[in-house]
Amino acid sequence: MTPKEQGIKYCTECGEPIRRNAEICPKCGVRQYPNRNRLAAALLAFFLGGFGIHKFYLGKAGWGIVYLLLCWTFIPGLIGIVESIFLFLMSDQEFDVKYNCDR
Ligand SMILES: [Zn+2]
Repeated sequence: MTPKEQGIKYCTECGEPIRRNAEICPKCGVRQYPNRNRLAAALLAFFLGGFGIHKFYLGKAGWGIVYLLLCWTFIPGLIGIVESIFLFLMSDQEFDVKYNCDR
């Protein structure tokens, strides 16, 4: 079973498995930020990837600016579509580890 099916996520501070909709970790008491949404990121990458919007959404503002500066070449748009496919195929757990553990 994936963590989502079990209704749990991992505390951003101590890594303890906690209820997915918990606002505060019962173990360490640290407030949990709302998780970034994998499908939202995938859709942003697909439709607005050429402008790096998904990078800003995922907290990679540096890359977002690079994409924005290069958007006239259409290369970021192509990369964005490839990234959206990866985001679509990625498991929620993998996504959480990659993009929801820095907050
Ligand atoms: Zn904790």
